[in-house]
Amino acid sequence: VTSVTILNYHYVRPLKLTRFPKINGCDLKRFETQVVDIHEAFQILKPEKLLEVSVDPPKTKGKPFAMLTFDDGFRDHFDYVFPILDRLGEVGAFFPPAQAIMSRVVLEVHKAHFVLASSANPSMLCKQVDLYVEENGLGDPVDFAKTFKVPSPRDSAEVIYVKRMLQRGLPAEHRAKLASELFRRFVTDDESAFAEELYLTSDQIRTMRSHGMHIGSHGDKHLWLSTLEPHDQLKELSASIDFLHRTGHSSRDTLTVCYPYGDHNDSTIQIAEQLGFKIGFADRHGVADLGSDSIFSLPRVSTSDFTMTAP
Ligand SMILES: [Zn+2]
Repeated sequence: VTSVTILNYHYVRPLKLTRFPKINGCDLKRFETQVVDIHEAFQILKPEKLLEVSVDPPKTKGKPFAMLTFDDGFRDHFDYVFPILDRLGEVGAFFPPAQAIMSRVVLEVHKAHFVLASSANPSMLCKQVDLYVEENGLGDPVDFAKTFKVPSPRDSAEVIYVKRMLQRGLPAEHRAKLASELFRRFVTDDESAFAEELYLTSDQIRTMRSHGMHIGSHGDKHLWLSTLEPHDQLKELSASIDFLHRTGHSSRDTLTVCYPYGDHNDSTIQIAEQLGFKIGFADRHGVADLGSDSIFSLPRVSTSDFTMTAP
């Protein structure tokens, strides 16, 4: 059995020193300790090596395999993650959504994160959501609450409610509208300045690439791919390939995709294969088993669930 612990990071920053200490991220200190531990205990794979061991498993037992993945194209990845990996001589796989980098807009999903990390209290945010539902005749808030107002191990029912309503609960055009309204009200009315501060630039991506970091696709607009018709999935993934080429991807580089929200279906995998992708990362929780998991749907381990005793 060839197993690979694929770590999944989003925000990595010195949380207490930032304007949004409540953001659900990995604190820089914790990250540094974790990566140094992983560097010592594991063999950290780059995508090419992962492909190699997936077809040709090692005959002798060495250090267990791990891989480090970073979603969403945050500037954190250049400022904090890249220097640490570079110093250790390790490779990370980074997945920036094309639109955030090229158009400097704040993606809906991140608007929701920062609204929740703002000083607005969760029950007040719930009220705002319900008010929006009523004003726009979208149904009875009580029905939405039945489905979406359920606590998770990490978040209160109210936080989950706002999160889910903005992620999937409301119809797409209303999600975008409500996320923007709440973002303007509770975070900032200067979206492009915020995007500038939040996301990597193309130049930073090129620099990371030239230092050996892997850059893969995270779609164009960060959509739930399984909810799209195949031709729209094709558009999303093709646009992300164009973006990779514009930031220095060469035909010799391995194409990988990390599905936004981990969301994909059979068509996604088919399309990804046709477009030349070699590996697909999902958000299912677990250690990847290269013998039984599809190389186009590899599970990952969220950094908050990871302890060194895991493997
Ligand atoms: Zn993402």
